[in-house]
Amino acid sequence: MADTGSSAITLRDVYAARDRIAGGVRRTPLMPSPSLSRHAGTEVLLKLETMQDIGAFKIRGATNKLRSLDPAQRERGVVTYSTGNHGRATAAAARDLGVNAVVCMSELVLDNKRRAIEDLGAEIRIRGRSQDEAAEEAHRLVGDQGMALVDPIDDPLIIAGQGTIGLEIIEDLPAVGTVVVPLSGGGLIGGIAVAIKTAAPDCRVVGLTMDRGAAMYESLKAGRPVAVDEVPSLADSLGGGIGLTNRYTFALVRDLVDDVVLLNERQIADGMTHLFREDGLVVEGAAAVGAAAILADILEPLRGPVAVVVSGRNVDRDDFIKVVTGNWDFGD
Ligand SMILES: *Cc1c(COP(=O)(O)O)cnc(C)c1O
Repeated sequence: MADTGSSAITLRDVYAARDRIAGGVRRTPLMPSPSLSRHAGTEVLLKLETMQDIGAFKIRGATNKLRSLDPAQRERGVVTYSTGNHGRATAAAARDLGVNAVVCMSELVLDNKRRAIEDLGAEIRIRGRSQDEAAEEAHRLVGDQGMALVDPIDDPLIIAGQGTIGLEIIEDLPAVGTVVVPLSGGGLIGGIAVAIKTAAPDCRVVGLTMDRGAAMYESLKAGRPVAVDEVPSLADSLGGGIGLTNRYTFALVRDLVDDVVLLNERQIADGMTHLFREDGLVVEGAAAVGAAAILADILEPLRGPVAVVVSGRNVDRDDFIKVVTGNWDFGD
């Protein structure tokens, strides 16, 4: 295995994260999905990160990072950039610790996500039309004001925090055959893969992303981190780059993830609709990709039992209603 980052985060880091975040983050249930199990012909269970207080798993990484800061760093505050859920998570973790937080974001971020972060007490700064431009502003605040950067993805503490999902899956489902994970910057799947591949090396780990603006997918194809244009998608939480100077998640995904599979907008909408109608869940597009891939039969051969990470529920409610009633405008 290459020594370029995939070995920089170990199972021990993930266990340390679990101890550190205890009390600040929920241990989420793994809920059977009878309808997806029927469709797949094997047992399918949903890992419900929708049940975190902020409505998404990112509270795990953010809490691990913020609880690791020393008192002087906490005093100077934290800054991040985000398409939404990481900003929300950083704001919530900061408020819990009584730390000031600034969240930089691009103009493409949806209003509901922005308001949610403001409601958590963080200061918002809008910069540019891509996450990369928002990132530049965050780095400027680190340089000028000594704030601590809470990177959305490429930080070992963030990755280890997200990886605690993998520990919980193994504990609840030791025989797990496949873990299906939404993929954007790769912090989520990277951390989960560290936990799963150490504890259950034969378990297949599959990353799912959208077929527009998939930075990690394009980077894997190119053999190095590349930039992509951000395109609006139902899976808006999967937008954003992986950073051209990516140090950890690119290597983790390259070395530990078995497959990366792409989904189109209609498949993502089908996943959201199915999880709502059959499983009673309100999930955002990014979180519906696992169900979408099972319904589209693109994970064959699928070895069960299958754990599907349902990563969040922070979707504009009017958009959601349009999707699940078949009234979403796909723009084509
Ligand atoms: C951030 C996010 C993802 C992707 O996580 P990465 O660590 O960037 O790969 C998936 N789903 C939701 C809901 C998210 O907020």
